[in-house]
Amino acid sequence: MSDPTTPPRPTPPAHPAGAIPAPPAFEARGLGRSPRGPRPADLASRAEALDAADDLAKLRARFTLPDGVVYLDGNSLGALPATVPDTTADVVRRQWGDLLIRSWDESNWWTAPERIGDKLAPLIGAAPGQVVVGDSTSVNLFKALVGAARLAEAAAPGRTKLLVDAATFPTDGYIAASAARMTGLTVTPVDPAHAADAMGPDTAVVLLNHVDYRSGRLHDLPALTAAAHAAGAIVVWDLCHSAGALPVGLDAHAVDLAVGCTYKYLNGGPGAPAYLYIADRHQAAFDSPLPGWNGHADPFAMTPDYVPTPGVARGRVGTPDILSMLALEAALDAWDGVSVEAVRAKSLALTDFFLECVAAYVPPGTVESVTPTLHAHRGSQISLRTDNAREVMAELISRGVIGDFRAPDVLRFGFTPLYVGFADAERAARTLGHIFG
Ligand SMILES: *Cc1c(COP(=O)(O)O)cnc(C)c1O
Repeated sequence: MSDPTTPPRPTPPAHPAGAIPAPPAFEARGLGRSPRGPRPADLASRAEALDAADDLAKLRARFTLPDGVVYLDGNSLGALPATVPDTTADVVRRQWGDLLIRSWDESNWWTAPERIGDKLAPLIGAAPGQVVVGDSTSVNLFKALVGAARLAEAAAPGRTKLLVDAATFPTDGYIAASAARMTGLTVTPVDPAHAADAMGPDTAVVLLNHVDYRSGRLHDLPALTAAAHAAGAIVVWDLCHSAGALPVGLDAHAVDLAVGCTYKYLNGGPGAPAYLYIADRHQAAFDSPLPGWNGHADPFAMTPDYVPTPGVARGRVGTPDILSMLALEAALDAWDGVSVEAVRAKSLALTDFFLECVAAYVPPGTVESVTPTLHAHRGSQISLRTDNAREVMAELISRGVIGDFRAPDVLRFGFTPLYVGFADAERAARTLGHIFG
């Protein structure tokens, strides 16, 4: 893997004007075989015992996964829930093919965005009536940020700053820069760990990620939300890497607005619609920058003037993408009777065990974890920094262990407790050890 002919890594694209500078340095921790560490046979039998004692292990049967594959990329594209193919076939053949346009009422297509929002809401700690499903995360972020700037201006006019997580996933930074230009705000990049210090009387809106997509760092949503409110700002949380992996508690922590995608830990399928959370107390004043006819109080009156519907449905824009949306609705059945707290406990146990296996199998000095060791700071993934990460990941995938590569040097392993077990974690680390020889 240290072939000197390896092509150079591509240079990351330059940030557009006003966008976000380089992420803060990762916290890194070296891993590697120690002479007194556990032997492989011990780890394999421990994995077996941990799987046997795992109450969530049976949930794997709710998914269709190929044999022989260890799937550690459910934080990029969740696995296929077993109910989705038949439901989707029914939606296409019967609801669309036979019922045709009657399905908007008879198959309850029209109300799907709010209905599925309510189905998803308990997973993010939201009471009914505050989540609407539709569009992409990028588009919902745009609605949320411009809506937040308008709420902030109405509550406390003249504030000038939009604070944005400096290490954010690119689309969030790009959308924030555009939303700021449109609303007259200035983007200020902040390290989320110190974001509270940057909040002040000039802060209008704060946009933060609950879990950093690259490092897997979990940020303190309750404390940062409270700090934003103490400064008089509106806070928007991006839940892409936390919803479905750990408790979020939007209502409990009085979050203002949130967005997230459903094709990662929520297994909605490629390009599944995202969601927008608008806390009850903000709904009446939420002024969407995309006031499409679906968010109108009386859409079929076809009037020339826009009158927003009273509830969260004012976050809707145009005709919903019904095929994807109803696939998501079926996918969410995989959560029936599942507690997010139990998922969190298993996720931490899995990531701890994976780190232990990596330390036992991989030669010292070859990889270092950039994911925080502290549970309070860890999401549901482990990111390992190594030389030639792109080639190492390609090799892992060819050996049946699917994770992903994030430029410039990160191997990313997502742990999705509904369908990943301890034996998977052990095999992934063992395979990584073999690659390093
Ligand atoms: C996955 C992800 C997105 C995806 O945005 P799309 O509009 O669905 O492409 C956005 N933000 C974050 C933080 C993500 O992790």
